[in-house]
Amino acid sequence: MPPDKPRYRTYAHPAGGWGAAGATARALMQQSALTKGSRALLSMNQPGGFKCPSCAFPDPCKRQTLEFCEQGAKALAFEATKQRVTRAFFAQHSVTALRAQTDHWLEMQGRLTEPMRYDAATDHYVPISWDDAFALIGRHLRGLDTPHQAEFYTSGRTPNEVAFLWSVMVREFGTNNFPDCSNMCHEPTSRGLPPSIGIGKGTCRMEDFDSTEAIFIFGQNTGSNSPRMMTNLTEARRRGIPIIAINPMPERAMEQYTGPQDLVQMATFRHDVIASEFVRVRAGGDLALIKGMMKAIFERASAGEDALDQAFIDQHTVGIDAVRADISAQDWAEIVAHSGVTEDQIRRITDVYVRSNATMACFGMGLTQHQRGSQLLQQLCNLLFLRGNIGKPGAGIVPVRGHSNVQGDRTCGINDRPTPELLDAYQRVFGFDAPREDGHNVQKAVEAMYAGQARVFIGMGGNFARAVPDTDRTYAAMGKLDLTVGINTKLNRGHLIHGREALILPVIARSEVIRTAKGPQTLTIEDMIAKVTASRGVLEPPSDDCMAEVEIVCRIAMAALSETRTTWAAFAADYDLIRDKIAEVFSDIYVGFNDRLKAPEGFYLDVPPRRREFHTDSGKANFLVLDGLHADDPVDDPGMLRLLTVRSQDQFNTTIYSDNDRYRGVWGNRMVLFMNPEDRSARGLRNEQVIGLETIYDDGFTRRVTGLTVLDYPLTKGCVAGYYPELNSLIPNGYHDGISGTLAGKSIPVRVVP
Ligand code: SF4
Repeated sequence: MPPDKPRYRTYAHPAGGWGAAGATARALMQQSALTKGSRALLSMNQPGGFKCPSCAFPDPCKRQTLEFCEQGAKALAFEATKQRVTRAFFAQHSVTALRAQTDHWLEMQGRLTEPMRYDAATDHYVPISWDDAFALIGRHLRGLDTPHQAEFYTSGRTPNEVAFLWSVMVREFGTNNFPDCSNMCHEPTSRGLPPSIGIGKGTCRMEDFDSTEAIFIFGQNTGSNSPRMMTNLTEARRRGIPIIAINPMPERAMEQYTGPQDLVQMATFRHDVIASEFVRVRAGGDLALIKGMMKAIFERASAGEDALDQAFIDQHTVGIDAVRADISAQDWAEIVAHSGVTEDQIRRITDVYVRSNATMACFGMGLTQHQRGSQLLQQLCNLLFLRGNIGKPGAGIVPVRGHSNVQGDRTCGINDRPTPELLDAYQRVFGFDAPREDGHNVQKAVEAMYAGQARVFIGMGGNFARAVPDTDRTYAAMGKLDLTVGINTKLNRGHLIHGREALILPVIARSEVIRTAKGPQTLTIEDMIAKVTASRGVLEPPSDDCMAEVEIVCRIAMAALSETRTTWAAFAADYDLIRDKIAEVFSDIYVGFNDRLKAPEGFYLDVPPRRREFHTDSGKANFLVLDGLHADDPVDDPGMLRLLTVRSQDQFNTTIYSDNDRYRGVWGNRMVLFMNPEDRSARGLRNEQVIGLETIYDDGFTRRVTGLTVLDYPLTKGCVAGYYPELNSLIPNGYHDGISGTLAGKSIPVRVVP
């Protein structure tokens, strides 16, 4: 049946509310998981239950009976689905035929049920036994000239125990090639914050939302990407706390929000207005905006106002003079031009900031995905230091992380640039020579594929080929690999962009019970506030032929490491043993891991800046200078627009739940381009006209996407927005943050083409 004709109209309802309730019910029914799914949802994010496999937003201090949002429910519904991808399915569909299907169609096919091997002779995936699959992987890995020819990818869904064993296996194998999904999102957080505050993590906890006096949200679509945070924002607004939302793209949840679990609001169809002020900044204009706020503060302090927390600055920081000099040199007209925000509005939100004695600064990809994303975060730290907003109740920096254990994976060793001390710890605990040279993050792994240096790719979860930039070049390069392996719950495009040999290995999902000879096993997750919680599945896996991720890592290790002395089999049977080793390697933060895990609410890992302890080179919080006002290289082209790649409401990373994006008024089409009406008419285009986009980037490659329906949208002039992964082919792999390598997906220079 041909898909319905796309529809475009303004969404008239509040975000959340009945729309969210309806979407949740539809997802469960669509996946024939109403009973099973509803039962499991009662255990999601509850003590003794399992952690949501979607984003990394923490559980509240006081839980509700239903502790999940629409996105969490959708993730669970598609995990608990009755749909199955069986050997009959693969016999019916060739890989070439599957490639012609949409990402949403692939997602709808359901759960993988047994290991499959790609048969080049028939262009179909065919069944393979687990033993043969591991033997094939072992043969390829042992057959490499050097271990650095293999790329070991980690999805942010990967629990701590799996990530840790993955880090042990890969290092024992001899490389630090750890491309991981955080490289594409919060790597600037992990690389940019340590020089400023001594750690690459947020400094707030949930109780800070209860005592804060102001909340600034930079470049993050909270209502769609971390919906449970809307509860905290609603409570803050009802206390009269100002919430300043800064984004080129206005988002529905900031304008109108109804708590789906607020029975009075639901019954009366009422809503809250969340943002007390919306700041339509230009793409990358946050740097100039933040510098503008600092300039206003310095001016007020010079005028004798008590605008600075001088005690904090004197006692806990170094470097303010250089920053003051840099800011004083900035010209207001330049600040206004680069930020796209008026001086009046900058001064107005600065007034909110100065009148607050405790401010939280939350941020998402709108700050990180720029060529100077890491340094931009350091400027945000500078702003917080001026008023002592680190290490006190109600204040701090809040990277809003998008994948459930993306922070935990880094903490547990998934790091392409490990410190010598960390490598010493692996050597001390496991007795093998840890590789000392830095490895590959995502950007470098892709470059190694282009150069033909990579020969094997193994993906622990995720949808690498679809998530990374420069889609066309990457697809071509991955096709030349000797072996690609996808370790997943569901079929995705990554399985169809495969090497000469390829495997699909089906895993037991987060919501499902893991049983070994030692009985049911527990996994752990570290959320975005460094809280570690136990996760125990409650559902039965879709088939007896699905395997636990821990066992898969151990079996690959035993197949690839001919002389290993590591106790892989013991780890596969008893996850407490894995945690004991984590406690040995990370003895500064994970000592007594298993005992601490007995606490039903879990436990916090140490975040020293919370007590104003800064493990930086100066031993203090560092004010750092970043010259200029550009978050990205200027582009001299009159037709240039800055493209923001965004997620829709019915999407989680590269998982597409439907082709709808109701909050932005789109139904049934993902090939759309949101454009400011003035930019559209200036180019002689009509609303809903179909156009193409071309990247303005001089590296000898043409990057063009056509078939995009232009839709009027009130985003900042000079910016356009469209969905990833469809528009990833417009992002050059070389267009990334200089420090972290993170793709600069929020400011891609493009022009309209017929
Ligand atoms: S806010 Fe995030 S972690 Fe919480 S239920 Fe929703 S998707 Fe899951």
